[in-house]
Amino acid sequence: MTDPHIPFAVPDLGAEEAHAVAEVIRSGWITSGPQMRAFESEFSEFAGGSVESVAVNSATAGLHLVLEALGVGPGSEVIVPDWTFTATAEIVRLLGGTPVIVDIDPATLNIDLNRVADAVTNRTVAAIPVHFAGLPVNLTELRSALGAGRVAIVEDAAHALPASSGISSNGVVGDCRESDAAVFSFYATKTITTGEGGMITTRRPELARRCRVMRLHGIDRDAFDRYTSDTPAWGYDVVAAGFKYNMTDIAAAMGRVQLAKASIMREKRAAIASRYADALKGLPIRLPTPAPDDTLHAWHLYVARIGPQSPVTRDEFIQLMAAAGIGTSVHFIPLHRHTFWRSLGTGADTCPVADAEADKAVSLPIYSSLTESQVERIIDTTREILS
Ligand SMILES: *Cc1c(COP(=O)(O)O)cnc(C)c1O
Repeated sequence: MTDPHIPFAVPDLGAEEAHAVAEVIRSGWITSGPQMRAFESEFSEFAGGSVESVAVNSATAGLHLVLEALGVGPGSEVIVPDWTFTATAEIVRLLGGTPVIVDIDPATLNIDLNRVADAVTNRTVAAIPVHFAGLPVNLTELRSALGAGRVAIVEDAAHALPASSGISSNGVVGDCRESDAAVFSFYATKTITTGEGGMITTRRPELARRCRVMRLHGIDRDAFDRYTSDTPAWGYDVVAAGFKYNMTDIAAAMGRVQLAKASIMREKRAAIASRYADALKGLPIRLPTPAPDDTLHAWHLYVARIGPQSPVTRDEFIQLMAAAGIGTSVHFIPLHRHTFWRSLGTGADTCPVADAEADKAVSLPIYSSLTESQVERIIDTTREILS
């Protein structure tokens, strides 16, 4: 008898989420409404209480809205890491701007802060640091690399819920103390999920306002109010050609339950990460760099790297794990290895570190519903393959 398959990722959803969604369906109001507003206000509280939150139907949508609000367009340059999902760069391109793709630090797999200053030009409008796997980028250092403060910082926080950098000084990722905005993802595999969904946080009221208007067709109720003191329920004014990026109440109801469980789920992932760290040391595999003492790692991903002494290649490792019924994945195929981004001139020569790491990286399962015996099996199988 073969052991049951261990998927790479499984959302941690239960009776509470099912109940919350059923309530929304029974209520008769299923799209953006009271649940979305409650989720936004709970999210603002989670992010330290000094931000506004704007719920959207994906992190990609959130990044698109924030960059539009910042005025990214033809002629703009936006700094992004090579080691990310295509969404981080594609929205820059969709707005007519140019993503400037920067190599990574081999220890953290986050953007190499020593290479950022060289990427800044007088056309740089923003930088999008990605807190890869849930390990926060040091935004104080990023800010100083970017110079005086003219360049906006938009955090791609798709992996970083919950995470914090310098617990005592900087607070939770999303509090926007050192950035213009942060954008979270609630995609099915992320640390909390609404199926599809995302959240923008920002301390800049005019930015939040533009994002709210543009997430729903450029409709501005406040602009309509200017023309009439007695706005009828059917009244609205369109002030721009907007998008359709609003979050439904069905998704928001799930998100509220998930947000309340976010810390408990993170603790379970952190416990799995320390099990892996203990049990896999000494093998020809490079384990993730531990977070500094003052940093809370979200542990969205556990990305190991197959070392030169390994008896198998990374691709063979993935095949052998699959044969043993264990799902793994690769985060990420760096931007410069994709046809489209290569066609814009980024290659192995511009991102040599990411290029070298790209053949070694493998993500092991790490999610709160993994059982102790599943974790054992992942460890035992990894040890067998690599010894
Ligand atoms: C998942 C992901 C996104 C996109 O999130 P969606 O909610 O699916 O749009 C963006 N950036 C990174 C780094 C991601 O991993």
